Amino acid sequence: MPRPIRAYIHPSAVRHNLEVARQRAPNSRTLAVVKANAYGHGIERVYSALKDADGIALLDLDEAVRVRQLGWKKPILLLEGVFTRADVSIAEEFSLATAIHCDEQRELIEAAKPTRPIDVFLKMNSGMNRLGFTLDKYRAAWERISATDGIGKIALMSHFANADQGSVDWQLERFDETTRDIRGERSLANSAATLWHPRAHRDWVRPGIMLYGGSPSGLSQDVKDLPLRASMTLQSEIIGVQTMSAGETVGYARTFQAGVTMRIGVVACGYADGYPRHAPTGTPISVDGVTTRTVGRVSMDMLTVDLTPCPNAGIGSKVELWGNAVKIDDVASSAGTIGYELMCALARRVPVVVTSRDTP
Ligand SMILES: *Cc1c(COP(=O)(O)O)cnc(C)c1O
Repeated sequence: MPRPIRAYIHPSAVRHNLEVARQRAPNSRTLAVVKANAYGHGIERVYSALKDADGIALLDLDEAVRVRQLGWKKPILLLEGVFTRADVSIAEEFSLATAIHCDEQRELIEAAKPTRPIDVFLKMNSGMNRLGFTLDKYRAAWERISATDGIGKIALMSHFANADQGSVDWQLERFDETTRDIRGERSLANSAATLWHPRAHRDWVRPGIMLYGGSPSGLSQDVKDLPLRASMTLQSEIIGVQTMSAGETVGYARTFQAGVTMRIGVVACGYADGYPRHAPTGTPISVDGVTTRTVGRVSMDMLTVDLTPCPNAGIGSKVELWGNAVKIDDVASSAGTIGYELMCALARRVPVVVTSRDTP
């Protein structure tokens, strides 16, 4: 028997969340973002849920090829573009659209001389200062690209730095001002802008985290009124129980000390499964459907929980590390990170079960 830990993937939740995104941006087409192997879920596992998307966006060429091999006929966008001339040939062969964020990428396409034109999304650095042409260089870049053989449709694209917390207006104004008389479709909105900044929806929205039920801000309270569902449940079991008397400690570095006599449960899940080692005492966790807290350090293969609120729990009790009962964002924020990172960090050794239901 493998250890009792399992990750359940719920394609029905992804399908539902995609519908929420489409309803939020009813006049836009949707590029479902499935980079990082669908945020750790596995592209093949959620593929069936993406049918209603108008396109798929990702980074890795091999993921793009996998999506085509699954039978996807609609657009696929490479969000970081191509890195070598050989990539351009693959983009041509599999009809991939590609971002162009620097002139080197335009030159790669020019040099590869594709016979079938490649559609591009010309990326503007409107203030994020990661990828893209700055405002002063953007128009000239568009003109060079328009004059480059082998390039098909040119869409205009940018990315927001703080759509989850504040305003996008400062970037939107720069984008609109710079592109005012440039034709082409526009794409700006990540999940946060899809949810909270309708002015930014434009032709194509690019929701990622919301498809998986996570909060773009990393805070579950920001999406609590939205009908998003968790698409990943991490579940395990209690494999040991200890009764600690007052003054005793649990685990490495003895960071938690019992104040009174208490029962603790040992859960088959540790940081080698992708659970964050930084999650401190008090991180929410559910045992037999009752929300309790972790106590002490997370170790490689195990962590420990306070069984005080669930006196009937014992060996074999079901534990939800995250899912619909315990929000992944709450575990993440307790550990100083965001749900995105936890999803992506699910370890290979965790057996994955795809289920048609929303709960395991
Ligand atoms: C990851 C990514 C997205 C999706 O972001 P979420 O916050 O997950 O919705 C959209 N656009 C680009 C360029 C990205 O890299």
